[in-house]
Amino acid sequence: MRIELRRVEFMPKELEPNVLYVSEKYRTAAHLCACGCGNKIRTPLGPTAWSVVAGRRGPSLWPSVGSWQRPCRSHYVIRDGEIHWAGQWNDAEVQQGRLREHTAREAYFAARARSSYARRLWAWLKALFGGR
Ligand SMILES: [Zn+2]
Repeated sequence: MRIELRRVEFMPKELEPNVLYVSEKYRTAAHLCACGCGNKIRTPLGPTAWSVVAGRRGPSLWPSVGSWQRPCRSHYVIRDGEIHWAGQWNDAEVQQGRLREHTAREAYFAARARSSYARRLWAWLKALFGGR
């Protein structure tokens, strides 16, 4: 079973199995859960979310997909068009994973806020002294 990459503008209502749909415009990807349960897995794309790489042998989706809210609790990685099962996480591990994600996101936005503050300060200084 290989996963193929399909670029779309809008996510179709019905997803085909073994297809990773990617909408660059809406920065999102979607596919049907690899266990065959039929659940749609939506993964937002971005620096603090998931990323998709189109490889020669198939797409890769990183980080792993965990269907913690679904009955199947599937956990896997898509790499080069192949499903790599990552083993199930217990509740504590899910919590920890969420915490790591949360910390990474906080750090990202803090860094961004700092850099935009520095830019604002620089613009202010230039405005203050630039005219003379
Ligand atoms: Zn499933």
